[in-house]
Amino acid sequence: MDRRRFIGASASALASFGLGRGEQAFGQTAQSSTSGGGPKIKEYRTLGRTGFKVSDIGLGGGEVTDAALFEAVLDRGINYIDAAENYVNGQVERTIGKAMKNRDRKSVFITTKLYLRDANVTKQEVLDRSRKCLERLETDYVDCLQIHCPPTTAILKAPGFHDAVKELKAEGRVRFCGLSQHGSQWNEAPETMEQILMAAAEDGRFDLALFVYNFIQRDMGERILKAFKEKNIAATIMKANPVGTYTWIQQEVEKVKNSGEKMPEYLPALLERVKKVADQADAFKNTYNLTNDAELLVAAYRFVLAHPDVHTVCCMVQNYDELDTYASLSGTRLSAPEEKKLAAYAETYGQFYCRHACGQCEADCPRGVPVNAIMRFRHYFSAQGREKHAMAEYAGLETGRADLCAGCAGYCQKACPHGLPIQAMLTLAHQTLTLG
Ligand code: SF4
Ligand code: SF4
Repeated sequence: MDRRRFIGASASALASFGLGRGEQAFGQTAQSSTSGGGPKIKEYRTLGRTGFKVSDIGLGGGEVTDAALFEAVLDRGINYIDAAENYVNGQVERTIGKAMKNRDRKSVFITTKLYLRDANVTKQEVLDRSRKCLERLETDYVDCLQIHCPPTTAILKAPGFHDAVKELKAEGRVRFCGLSQHGSQWNEAPETMEQILMAAAEDGRFDLALFVYNFIQRDMGERILKAFKEKNIAATIMKANPVGTYTWIQQEVEKVKNSGEKMPEYLPALLERVKKVADQADAFKNTYNLTNDAELLVAAYRFVLAHPDVHTVCCMVQNYDELDTYASLSGTRLSAPEEKKLAAYAETYGQFYCRHACGQCEADCPRGVPVNAIMRFRHYFSAQGREKHAMAEYAGLETGRADLCAGCAGYCQKACPHGLPIQAMLTLAHQTLTLG
């Protein structure tokens, strides 16, 4: 298969995996014939010190507002549900509440999160917001209340949060305490995901965390998993899939070329790099007899599932096809040939993957552009199919945006230890996230 046909096949395979671009992947699809049956969860793992047996595939509820789809998730045996007060303005919590009405509440582990940006947050504010979560979820209690991506260890230790959790636990409204982390903006707080999660492990009050681990961004995740295992803290994983950046770059570059406008300065060097990688990529695909990216995605999830200290992998389920795919991964393991394939992929395409929760180059940017956060929004847009969410996040940035990058000397690029052509990637990300 030549490169052009491979890209087409990848796009359709990604769409069927639910990770493509456009309306089909983004919208909630009509109920498919598989909603009543389909693959079921085959493996349950003990969620650290909570003792709860959770499905190895969990629901990352970021976009689920379709009660029927959520019911199907539960019917497949998925019993770890990750929500947040701000997911679709509370709609995700409301959907969960409706769907859980006729279910055994004790059979499902529901966690929700509160965004805290001030270490001086009051106990009363946390109590009020937590009670609103309970109302939307139509439940007497949540299994875990998390701080949503705290940017600093000071926020992690906010007395107002911990005093409120103590009271909510005494009332039986909250069972466990946790946090999520996928990296903060460097200009917001120069603390890494690892520093914040290690501080949480040391703190002793956190029972669970949601964080990034995948086959390219693995060292940091493995150190955290080891520390968590020692303290029996539950490890739930997000962003298990780092596949697809290369395909996105090709598409955006094509768009620029086809626009008929003068080629921006940053593009020729990137094109050269893409061409070089494309040649390596063809060799890679031939060696592994690879016909589409979806095969890699399956291997990427299996890589995470294969780690014995991972308790559940949170997957973004936006339609029934995705549900089928994720549920069918339950209980499976990475094969030796798949492992080799991922290693070769990391070698070839890893040079385009802006590591989630990295941010090492951001301190070098004189314009305060949050490189890692912007590339995360790009990931939401084109790898997760959450286009509106990604664009809203990008539009809401209070810092410099990537339109500042085109005329810059590329300090971030010089600082990236992974050698990414990040300046051009940021400019393309601006194009993607503004539908430019
Ligand atoms: S460009 Fe490089 S250094 Fe900067 S956040 Fe991405 S991977 Fe890290
Ligand atoms: S290209 Fe320049 S403005 Fe853009 S993030 Fe890098 S250093 Fe900052």
